[in-house]
Amino acid sequence: MNLAELQSIYHQPFFDLIQQARNVYLEHWKGDEVQLCTLLSIKTGGCSEDCGYCAQSARYSTGVKAGKLMSTEEVVAKAKAARDNGSTRFCMGAAWKGVRDGDPRFEQVLETVREVAKLGLEVCVTLGQLTPVEARKLKEAGVTAYNHNIDTSPEFYPEIVTTHTFQDRLNTIAAVQESGMAVCCGGIIGMGESVDDRLKMLEVLTNFDPPPESVPINCLMAMPGTPLEHQPPVDIFELVRLIATTRIALPKSKVRLSAGRTRLSKEGQALCFFAGANSIFYGDKLLTAKNPGVDEDRDLLQELNLIPQHPHTEMACLR
Ligand code: SF4
Repeated sequence: MNLAELQSIYHQPFFDLIQQARNVYLEHWKGDEVQLCTLLSIKTGGCSEDCGYCAQSARYSTGVKAGKLMSTEEVVAKAKAARDNGSTRFCMGAAWKGVRDGDPRFEQVLETVREVAKLGLEVCVTLGQLTPVEARKLKEAGVTAYNHNIDTSPEFYPEIVTTHTFQDRLNTIAAVQESGMAVCCGGIIGMGESVDDRLKMLEVLTNFDPPPESVPINCLMAMPGTPLEHQPPVDIFELVRLIATTRIALPKSKVRLSAGRTRLSKEGQALCFFAGANSIFYGDKLLTAKNPGVDEDRDLLQELNLIPQHPHTEMACLR
């Protein structure tokens, strides 16, 4: 889709937009299942990069301490707990620029992936930049999906990050696609970008071949000490419009309502689900940011008659 097409979807009357998105959702997805994903930071803080939204950058005084890479045993214990709580996807994130074949830390991550994959969970990792060599090894170890967000539009990206480029992101995504791992790729809103920047980000995503398997839509959690700490919260209707537009533009992708849910009311989240979100991050913590509690999420899904995706079954995209 091009920008003009996305603009005409996004700017239609609000109820027309969410109704269209709902229709697209029902046409492509069976039932009202929501995938529950757990995200674990396996290596926190001390990152060399300068992403302006991130509390884990070593360049900002955010109070986040740099930790060591978690052992395979520790991670497996967390993955088991996530599975027992109903998560069907376990995502492991490491705060560093990227991974390199031959680095002992990469070898350790591969070992952890092999063990987590035995638990019957979808395994997702977000490890920064990689080349086709590392991508192939991760795929062989059992990774289902690789998360690598483009964050925003190509034009706005240099305002947010200077230590790597938008093209670097695309190169990593191309390596992931080549390996056969699914691509999980989305962005963050509320960083000072325009609505057109958000739609240009979607334009890039809709032109991926194949389209991303899942698209996390994050609202900025303005972290104290980061350059974006004073950004105001995202307006709920802007978030719902973007989710609805994503659902229409990428009908077969899981649209993941990600960071920033603590700031949303139950009603706001319900609107996001109606507009086509069909996955959430689940668990009390999202890397270094707060996330709603597990019980709160279960209650909300129940109130909305939404069903957590049954463990060990693939969510049914009808096409
Ligand atoms: S977003 Fe990732 S790459 Fe950027 S500073 Fe944070 S941990 Fe590092």
